[in-house]
Parts: sequence; structure tokens; C-alpha cells
Amino acid sequence: MSKIQSTKFKMQKSTCLVPGLLLLNLFFCLIGHAAKKPEAIEQKAAAIHRAVITIDSHTDTPLQMVREGFDISVRHDSRKEYSKIDFPRMKEGGLDGAFFGVFVSQGPRNPEVYERIRQRTLMLFDTIAASVGRNLAVAELAVSPDDAIRLKKSGKRAVFIGIENGYAIGKDLSLLSTYYLKGARYVTLCHTKNNDIADSSTDSTENNGLSQYGYEVVQEMNHIGMMVDVSHISDKALKDVLAFTKAPVIASHSCAKALCNNPRNLTDDLLRAIARNGGVVQMCILSDYVKTPEANPARDSARAAVRRQFNNFDGLSDSAMKVARTAWNAVNTRYPQKLATVSDVVDHIDHIVQIAGIGHVGIGTDFDGGGGVEGCFDVSEMGNITLELVKRGYSKNEIRKIWGGNLMRVMKKTDKVAQKYKSSCRCNT
Ligand SMILES: [Zn+2]
Repeated sequence: MSKIQSTKFKMQKSTCLVPGLLLLNLFFCLIGHAAKKPEAIEQKAAAIHRAVITIDSHTDTPLQMVREGFDISVRHDSRKEYSKIDFPRMKEGGLDGAFFGVFVSQGPRNPEVYERIRQRTLMLFDTIAASVGRNLAVAELAVSPDDAIRLKKSGKRAVFIGIENGYAIGKDLSLLSTYYLKGARYVTLCHTKNNDIADSSTDSTENNGLSQYGYEVVQEMNHIGMMVDVSHISDKALKDVLAFTKAPVIASHSCAKALCNNPRNLTDDLLRAIARNGGVVQMCILSDYVKTPEANPARDSARAAVRRQFNNFDGLSDSAMKVARTAWNAVNTRYPQKLATVSDVVDHIDHIVQIAGIGHVGIGTDFDGGGGVEGCFDVSEMGNITLELVKRGYSKNEIRKIWGGNLMRVMKKTDKVAQKYKSSCRCNT
């Protein structure tokens, strides 16, 4: 039975007592019932949202944090300031924890640039640490499920770190350990362009999936306990990873292709394969990946012109990125997009549950990297996803899995696999 059917079934159950056959009473009873029911559902959803640990597996908030004058402890207006996450709104939206993405855009691959990228990556780690350090009364860095539990109990936000784009390690495998020690717990193997590790889902074929070096990267990640993030990589690269990894994978921000035919999204076969691997698909709420946008030629050509002008935002300096972002925002303001809705988002969750199972779905918004839909435009509105899940009949336990339970299971398992390697490694003896 689908979630929608089961909700309808539940809605038909009545606790209203009808005294005799008095039609008037029946009328008032039904009116009262109709008026109370949505409120009761909202209260139930709010209680569940408060009770479960809620973790967003992918945001690009560090891109805001490096902006001059941005203060994460202050509440921002998402419509005016293009910021989707800060600590006051995380609290408002009942989001207990989020992975802040250390993102590096894909550029040239040579030793000089790799050194620059290494320095930029370290700078982003330092920015996150310093920013959290200034706000220890409300947030702390987190590296494990236990941290998430502890911080929820103390009412603080948990800031996890993930690296978006394996470009950050260049050709130096030891950087994986360096970044792990700085708190990173996943690496997205590539971004919108191919790199030395893997082919991207939005680029041409170069490595025929995972490269030889890519296999070494995945092996090293298994050894140190770093989660392998398969969002963005090509279908072939994803199959290569699944056939090789010893730990379950995550897709930190990916949707179902059956509902929105975008190259970034996952086919039903890949959803099943990730489930067989024990991994988790974290639903992305970037509108274009949730619902194919309606044709808007004026907007499309204006956006394409900005992409051309700024090299598809690849390899830009901070100052160039600032100019590019202003131009991009101006186009979006001039040609507003009809966004997908929370209901569309939960359609994807329904689908992933149906294909992969309730143990293999989660949420990774991509806030501050383009994420946001009608009804969940920024982090303050996260509760609306829970409300829609409750309306469709999901139980508290199922919602707990979606909101972080599944992700934390993969984190634990990844750590366990690494411990096994460590205990069997002769290098320490
Ligand atoms: Zn991304």
C-alpha cells in the first residue's frame, strides 16, 4: 500500500461519537472534526520533528561564511540576502545538525593549482572552525553520531563537515587523512566536471567511470573511515564504486531520475544498487533536480549567458565569484523561477522508499548551493517536510530514519569498516 493510500485510510477512521441519529449533531461533529484534524496533524508533526535527530547531509554554507561581513550567529532574510542557513534559523526550523560543505570548484589539474586548492581547502576548514568557535554557546563541530546525540541533548546545533569535490586532495592520498583529522567525514568524489578520480554525470567520458587513482582514493577512504559520497559522479563511476567499496556509500544530495530526468539524478537501478550496498540516498531539494522546470526561454538564455561569462563558475577567484554570484542573483530576481514544492520533494522520498526501502533515504538540501523549494525555501522551514511526511502516513520511526537515522547508520558502519582495517594492519605493530 502506498503512503498516500495508507493516509487516506487513516483519515477515514473516526473517533467522533454521534449521539443517536440527530443530523444536526452529526453536522456539527463533522465540522468540528474537519477543523481540528489539520491542527492535530500539525501538532503531531511538530512533536515528531522535535523528538527525532534531524541532520541535513549537504549544504554549501561555507560559501556564505567566507563572504565579507557574513555572521552565522545573526538571522538573515533568505529572499533579500540569498543566505539559507544561520544558527538562529537552524533552531527555528528544528534542524539539529548539518554537513557544511568544503567546496572547491573544478579547475586545471597540475601541481601548482593543486597546491592552491589545498591551501583554499584548509582555509575553508579554518573558517568553519573559527566561526563555530565564536558560537560555542549555540553550536559545536561534530564528527560522529554520538556527537549529534550529545549536542541535541544540550540544545546546540551540530556542524559536520563534508568535502564537495575530490579535487581538494589533488594527487595526494595523504590529504584524505589530513582532512579527516580536521573533521571531514565524507568526500564527494567529483563535482560538475570530470577530475582525476571519476567522471562526472554532467561531463563527457574520460575515465570510463572511476579512474585507477579513483580506486585508490575509495580504498583509502574505506581505510580511514571517510564516507564515499557518490552524488555528482557518472552512473558508470557509481557502479564502479559500488562494486569495489567495503563500506556503504552516501549520495549526499541526489534525487530520483524517474520523477525528474536530470543527469544528476539516480535511476531506479542505481537506487536499488545503493540499497544493496547498505548505503543511503539523501534527497536534494534543489528545484531543478526535483521537478523539470517549465520552459522560460528568456530566463534560460540570461542564465546561460552568465554561465558563459563566468566559465560555468569553475576555477573562479573569490572576487570573480562574488561578481558572478551578483550577476546570477540579478537574473534570478528578474526572471523568478516557479519552484518545485515540498509535496514534489516528498514525492521523490515516496519513490525512493518504494524502490530502495525506508532504510535508504535521507535529506541533503543543498542550501546555499542552489537548494530551496516552495514551502522549504530556507532552513527555518524544514518542519514542513516532516509535516508532509506525517500527512502521507509516515510513522515517527520512519521519519527518524529519514531525518538522519539512516545517515548515522552509514557513518557508524563506515567507522566499523575502518576499525577492522586498523586492527588487521601490521603497520602499527
Ligand atoms: Zn552539489
